[in-house]
Amino acid sequence: MPHSSIDLHMHSTASDGRLTPAELVERVAAAGVRLMALTDHDTLSGLEPAQQAAQDHGVGFVPGIELSARWARGVVHIVGLGLDPANPALVTGVAAQQAQRQQRAERIGERLAKRGFDGISERVAQAVGAGVPGRAHFARDLLEQGQVKTLQEAFDRYLKRGRPGYAPVDWASIDQVVEWIHGAGGVAVFAHPLRYQLSGGALRAAIQAFVAAGGRAIEVSNGGGGRDDVPAAAALARRFGLEASMGSDFHDPDFPWIAIGRLAPVPKDLAVVWQRWTVSA
Ligand code: AMP
Ligand code: MN
Ligand code: MN
Ligand code: MN
Repeated sequence: MPHSSIDLHMHSTASDGRLTPAELVERVAAAGVRLMALTDHDTLSGLEPAQQAAQDHGVGFVPGIELSARWARGVVHIVGLGLDPANPALVTGVAAQQAQRQQRAERIGERLAKRGFDGISERVAQAVGAGVPGRAHFARDLLEQGQVKTLQEAFDRYLKRGRPGYAPVDWASIDQVVEWIHGAGGVAVFAHPLRYQLSGGALRAAIQAFVAAGGRAIEVSNGGGGRDDVPAAAALARRFGLEASMGSDFHDPDFPWIAIGRLAPVPKDLAVVWQRWTVSA
């Protein structure tokens, strides 16, 4: 299967994506992607409708999730692929992560209301609907209200650590989230390694912790990074003996610089995580 037809990281309205699972899968099919994973933040709720839509469109479907994990004073994202969404320990763990997200959203809303952003909690709750809240929902509201010019500015001025709308979260540990993924029969993938603003040493320590927990793969090609990120992430895969994964991290059709299936190829020497779900290379 050519790399251009594989996309193993994307979001729907179940978390902070803008398309419903069915709308997302329709675009995945239109983009010519043959194997997809839905990986919403800390929720499994989009998987059933997405899987159904994928079957209707003849797209190969890998059930996934993107779990937030505590690392040092920060957070890393661990994608789980090929997991059983009904696994009881996973379901319980994900519910705890969601409760953290709900509580954090209340705190962020209170903090921003104190800064004069009236009604932000109510508007965000409306936008989140039945999904799981994230900082992206607050960033979009600040943008729509004309308080910032870009989402980046919303994060930089209000939502990043140290900013007035920041509220910390006690995410599960890397060990814990890898255990949930493996317990549900999935493969754990260290997501977008070059997007954490960690020093080289701190990044390697985080990956080492992931490997010690039994993590198997790393995202070598991610839509959010530049082309220069691929060789750097590939070097990390080789250094730690990890398989490669690739995924766009698509969220929103109005931000076309991250498009479904538009990904730099993974270097050919690396073992790839999607071998499990594809018949031929
Ligand atoms: P959360 O997991 O709720 O803390 O929020 C992280 C999410 O916010 C990421 O998955 C992205 O969707 C989004 N995000 C983080 N940083 C930025 C940024 N600088 N610009 C736009 N979106 C961002
Ligand atoms: Mn997101
Ligand atoms: Mn992420
Ligand atoms: Mn993501």
